[in-house]
Amino acid sequence: MIARPGITHDNRFFWEGLRERKLRIQRCSACHQLQHPPAPMCTGCHSFELGAIEASGRGTIHSFVVAEHPRIPPFEYPNVIVLVELEEGTRLVSRLRGVAPDDVAIGQPVMVDFERVDDELTLHCFRPARS
Ligand SMILES: [Zn+2]
Repeated sequence: MIARPGITHDNRFFWEGLRERKLRIQRCSACHQLQHPPAPMCTGCHSFELGAIEASGRGTIHSFVVAEHPRIPPFEYPNVIVLVELEEGTRLVSRLRGVAPDDVAIGQPVMVDFERVDDELTLHCFRPARS
């Protein structure tokens, strides 16, 4: 049994995108501001006219923590949790795979990857980018 994300009218596009191995970021149709996580209203201009873009998946590590506890399935521990600055200019919290916790560095280039949990749920994570 794993904890599952709460999927709502406002964030359904994001989770459906992950199932298609696409990282979609909400964008305001009025002022074009990107925001994540998805919300019902633009935090910049308060418009309710919201769309989404497909992000390239490229970014850099803005910050990170190494989580040891509590140990929550399906994640592996130590779990490197990163705040990624996407090249489009917004940030999201994800997990970093393929790097030992001692080797993680601020500013490190990363690329999105997708991990299928089951038919309903796919999660995003990031891996070191090949330069
Ligand atoms: Zn706006």
